[in-house]
Amino acid sequence: MDFELSEEQKMVKEAAADFAKNTLLPKAQEFDEKEEIPTEIYQQLADLGYLGMLLPEEYGGSNLDFVSYICAMEEFAKASAALMISISVHNSLICDAILNFGTPEQKKKYLPLLASGKIIGAYSLTEPGAGTDAGSLRTTAILQGDHYLMNGTKAFVTNGGIAGLFMVFVLTKPELKSKGISCLLVEKGTLGMSIGVKEKKMGLKGSDTRELSFADCKVPRANLLGQENNGFKVALSLLNSGRVGVGAQCVGIAQAAYEEALKYSKERVQFGQPICNFQAIAFKLADMVTQIDAARLLVYRAAHLKSTGKKCNIEASMAKLFSSEVANRVVNEAVQIHGGYGYMKEYAVERYFRDARVTEIYEGTSEAQRIVISRELLKD
Ligand SMILES: Cc1cc2nc3c(=O)[nH]c(=O)nc-3n(C[C@H](O)[C@H](O)[C@H](O)COP(=O)(O)OP(=O)(O)OC[C@H]3O[C@@H](n4cnc5c(N)ncnc54)[C@H](O)[C@@H]3O)c2cc1C
Repeated sequence: MDFELSEEQKMVKEAAADFAKNTLLPKAQEFDEKEEIPTEIYQQLADLGYLGMLLPEEYGGSNLDFVSYICAMEEFAKASAALMISISVHNSLICDAILNFGTPEQKKKYLPLLASGKIIGAYSLTEPGAGTDAGSLRTTAILQGDHYLMNGTKAFVTNGGIAGLFMVFVLTKPELKSKGISCLLVEKGTLGMSIGVKEKKMGLKGSDTRELSFADCKVPRANLLGQENNGFKVALSLLNSGRVGVGAQCVGIAQAAYEEALKYSKERVQFGQPICNFQAIAFKLADMVTQIDAARLLVYRAAHLKSTGKKCNIEASMAKLFSSEVANRVVNEAVQIHGGYGYMKEYAVERYFRDARVTEIYEGTSEAQRIVISRELLKD
């Protein structure tokens, strides 16, 4: 059993850590306060190959393996979880879906634009009435000649306000319910499409989350991604990447919170000595680092399975479930170690605490992950 990253994977992790530390971390608080990430940051990411990480070079991509990608995502999340989720949706949901399901024309048209950062991608499955039960979505797209006529509302779209291309899941045969779902590529500015106001969130404030609505929105038939009425398969095929990606985000947030707590516990003096000398605090640090290590191993295992083309549904769910719960426990303890200062915006742990909360909710709630895992166990 080999727990070592390859030389290439180590290099990707180190380069991402450098970029995150030098470019993202100094601005992370500002992303949070201003509730946006400046476009120059996306251009810098594109120039360094971080917007086409999983794409082949022929489309302008960096052609990285999935483990390298996950290592980079962990490092980015350590600096800014908001930036990380934005580019993880772009890379592992949009770019990867078009690469795997797109027609040659769709790949040629969209992948170079995505890899070069000329457009950012968004993924839109959730609706106001269809979250965990995503198969019950109600947005329709009825074929009329050479275009689909789309009507409905989508919720919580990450990158909603900055994306140029949206992958939207719709019902093309409403009578077939989840078996009548298709995926359409919808360009920003398509007539009949409206983008809502930016959601005010608890955390990940730099990431842009919006509602989308479609009123007789005309989408060319050529923008169908994958086969008609097979869209739920496209959505399901992306679940593992999304879940392992959120797992990496959790490890990154937790590691950052732990490091802040460790540093603070050595500096803060009470009763004439640093608080790390108190066993109550030292044991918290021991528990934090142990849990983070276990979460990281689960995330890397799932990433390795995915990278080598092996089945990893249960492992991806375990990694997402465990690491999201670890992240929330760790950020809570990091705030506790900071005492009252941890409740103040001046200290980074306040942001980590808010950013971690959503990881137990999106990409499948913790309850949904337990359903996936237990179903697998009880299958026979
Ligand atoms: C910041 C943010 C960004 C997001 N980005 C995107 C995005 O880019 N694209 C996208 O499509 N979606 C996105 N989402 C949506 C996200 O995936 C959903 O919020 C999530 O799937 C949960 O759906 P819901 O909010 O409707 O909750 P619900 O499904 O209504 O769940 C409410 C509660 O009921 C529980 N529950 C539901 N069903 C069951 C069951 N069968 N058994 C036990 N418990 C159950 C849930 O676990 C949860 O605790 C985002 C959400 C957030 C908050």
